[in-house]
Amino acid sequence: LAAGAIALTAGCGTGGQAAGQTGAAGEDETPLVGIAMPTTVQTRWVADGDNLSQQFGSLGFDVEMQYADDDPAAQAEQIGRMLEDGADALVVGAVDGTALKAVLAQAGDAGVPVVSYDRLIRDSGDVDFYASFDNRRVGVLQATSLLQGIGVLDEQGAPTGDEGPFAVELFAGSPDDNNATVFYDGAMSVLTPYLESGVLVVPSKQVEREDVAIAGWKAEVAGERMTSLLAPYTHGTRLAGVLAPNDGIAQAVLAATADLGYTPVVPGQDAEVPAVRSVADGAQYSTVYKDTRQLAEVTVQMVQALLHGTEPEVNDTTSYDNGVGVVPAYLLPPQLVTQDNYQAVLIDSGYYSAKEIG
Ligand code: BGC
Repeated sequence: LAAGAIALTAGCGTGGQAAGQTGAAGEDETPLVGIAMPTTVQTRWVADGDNLSQQFGSLGFDVEMQYADDDPAAQAEQIGRMLEDGADALVVGAVDGTALKAVLAQAGDAGVPVVSYDRLIRDSGDVDFYASFDNRRVGVLQATSLLQGIGVLDEQGAPTGDEGPFAVELFAGSPDDNNATVFYDGAMSVLTPYLESGVLVVPSKQVEREDVAIAGWKAEVAGERMTSLLAPYTHGTRLAGVLAPNDGIAQAVLAATADLGYTPVVPGQDAEVPAVRSVADGAQYSTVYKDTRQLAEVTVQMVQALLHGTEPEVNDTTSYDNGVGVVPAYLLPPQLVTQDNYQAVLIDSGYYSAKEIG
């Protein structure tokens, strides 16, 4: 999809409140919410956009939604256009968390509230609220799962006493995405003691986030990096596991290691369909499920409160300093999904049909 290929107006045709039908511009009091989404490459964002436009639409909002195709400049332009079109509120899943300062200053000047969606927008004082998941917990779950799969921790998360050493490689998400740092820090809070004690070893020696980050979360780049690290593993060292920050990267790592003759333990994130299938088949070890329907609900609640001049509900007022100040947040709980519970968590709950997972 090209940047900006998706633009839609919800509110009409969704039944219910007959939004957007009040006639001539200027007299129309239907609130317009601008939704800026980063990309369609990871399918979660498609679900996010669908959920958001559906939920806003059914409450009588007009919706202008744009996907930025992972291009920060395109996203800034899209947001500028939403403001020109008279957006009353903005919901922004940023491509580059630091690239929106100027356009958000325009929003601030116009009194248009901004909700930072899933990813924290940095270096801007014009971000009113943050709707996301407990991103540090995502990283903790990924690392814990890695250790469980390797056998260093048991199912309850208690040490088994197995001292290895186990060889692992580490991957982090995109440096321009604040979440990637938080995921990695959360994961390293679990892994560092095992790296220090020598239970885990990293044959590539690449451990610093700058050395293991995958710009733009690009799965191909992750696959190339994994391939470039394979030498010890094709010469006798067993690759016990790989910390992968999301499903796209997890799947690329599994593909790159396919010829090893065994499957390393690889966690992921997003519960994307191919990854869930892979978890069901016993290939990808786990994924982290984040219910995007709930994230949309939290976001809609925030926007409604902002437009009604009431206080949005938040549950975290300390964790997310964006460089200008702490952004009050509502953080939802992520959940680990493995071969043992994917059926209950993802299918019995109705997030996916049994057929989709196949
Ligand atoms: C999201 C993840 C997603 C990644 C790549 C992160 O900000 O929280 O769910 O996998 O971006 O799109």
